[in-house]
Amino acid sequence: MRGWTIREISLALRQGHISPSELCQRCLSLIRKTKILNAYITVTEEQAVKQAEDAEKRLQRGNPLGPLDGVPVAVKDNFSTAGIETTCASNMLKGYVPPFNATVVQRLLDQGAILMGKTNLDEFAMGCGSTDGIFGPVRNPWGYSKQYREQLAEDCAVDDSDWVVAGGSSGGSAVAVASMSCFASLGSDTGGSTRNPAAHCGIVGFKGSYGLLSRHGLIPLVNSMDVPGILTRCVDDVSTVFGLLAGHDPKDSTTVQDPFKPFELPDEIDVRNLCVGIPKEYHAPGLSCETLEIWTKGVNLFEDGGARVVEVSLPHTQYSNVCYHVLCTTEVSSNMARFDGLEYGHRSNVESSTEALYAATRHEGFNDVVRGRILAGNYFLLKENYDDYFVKAQKVRRLIANDFLKVFESGVDVLLTPTTLSDASSYMEFIKEDNRTRSAQEDIFTQGANLAGLPAIAVPAILSRRGLPLSLQFIGRAFHDKQLLTVAKWFEQQMKFPLLQLQTPLNNCSELLKSQSSHARF
Ligand code: GLN
Repeated sequence: MRGWTIREISLALRQGHISPSELCQRCLSLIRKTKILNAYITVTEEQAVKQAEDAEKRLQRGNPLGPLDGVPVAVKDNFSTAGIETTCASNMLKGYVPPFNATVVQRLLDQGAILMGKTNLDEFAMGCGSTDGIFGPVRNPWGYSKQYREQLAEDCAVDDSDWVVAGGSSGGSAVAVASMSCFASLGSDTGGSTRNPAAHCGIVGFKGSYGLLSRHGLIPLVNSMDVPGILTRCVDDVSTVFGLLAGHDPKDSTTVQDPFKPFELPDEIDVRNLCVGIPKEYHAPGLSCETLEIWTKGVNLFEDGGARVVEVSLPHTQYSNVCYHVLCTTEVSSNMARFDGLEYGHRSNVESSTEALYAATRHEGFNDVVRGRILAGNYFLLKENYDDYFVKAQKVRRLIANDFLKVFESGVDVLLTPTTLSDASSYMEFIKEDNRTRSAQEDIFTQGANLAGLPAIAVPAILSRRGLPLSLQFIGRAFHDKQLLTVAKWFEQQMKFPLLQLQTPLNNCSELLKSQSSHARF
């Protein structure tokens, strides 16, 4: 078990073992002590303290708003938050204070959750390491763990100038949960940005079926693929948060119309009637031996549990990267058109003409990754290119979605795949490649679920020989999110992933960490 779960902390709060204010102070203290990880862009200390006081009154009256009342959470800085700066880690939006809350943020607050702050990311969520935002890279707490440091010391001299990347683009949200300064966080997932950092930080990362969580107030990257993601320390917590957030939103016409029924996952899970598919195309070049090993172990576990495991084929997998790139950049080029220096965010001083103002604003406001994607997208959308790129990519997307559909129609319930090719890289290693190449490698197993709108979850499995987390991914049928989470919970129960034990320079927070872990009762 990796620290207090929402269910446990919620019970402790209701029974008065700890007050929301005390819990909030502990989390604030952890945020301060783990500052080196750079997980937060804005810490909303004042609001959090006030929210905790309000929660305390409700709990004392025995009148909590719901299971999240008094529970600290964090939100990626690409969700609009009323009265709180929302930057997307970009100069373009620095200083922008939205007048409204994203629907999912509002729903968290309506449940009494305490917002600890806004978390760090790649600029406009374009990336897979949380290294490409204006506030600097996010560091992975496992890079400071006893488990990793001991291995490093054995293999070579410990080099404190380098650190391990957190994954991305929701790296700040993943680190906030992994380092226990909050109990759940929101990320966004367009091609893997929730599952990837969850995998690298040893926590659970979930994207629901497209249409179950509102995108209203999530600053868009690729509207047809974006979904809010949920990051927690266990699968049960995902289902708690998901149940509170999911469902129709009149402000997002792509959300489902039917009312969403929240669910609890059973504790006793039987996988005997389950059929698990193993996509053969996911044996990709670059898959590390260790990842293959744990994937095989996963297969064996399901077989031993009585499930039927079958090899399946997703024949268009090889095109998913290029297809994602074309669709992503075309939607980016249209989404970014709103940042013209006139309505909100950054405005350049160059005002000789409207065009000059636009150009200078964008040059100063966006990093080269964002500008590169805008250029590529506009190129693909040129009249003479439209059919060859955009229309073709749409067709390929349909083929990719159909691959999944066929597999599920053949009786497969869930797919079991790795989440990433290997464990997290060191920062120096990571930045050797450019943003595009890195995404092509890191998102290889995750982007299919976004192209097809399917639910998918990354579950921590084991530590690599270097002492860093490795994770497996489950992909489910559209709108069978409960089944997916149930299978993921069963797998989690079998794996018993270890607790993060921090060492220098973060050992000053190990006592606090221990007090937030389920091994040390309040
Ligand atoms: N790495 C992918 C990209 O840069 C996915 C990002 C995401 O899911 N937000 O587009």
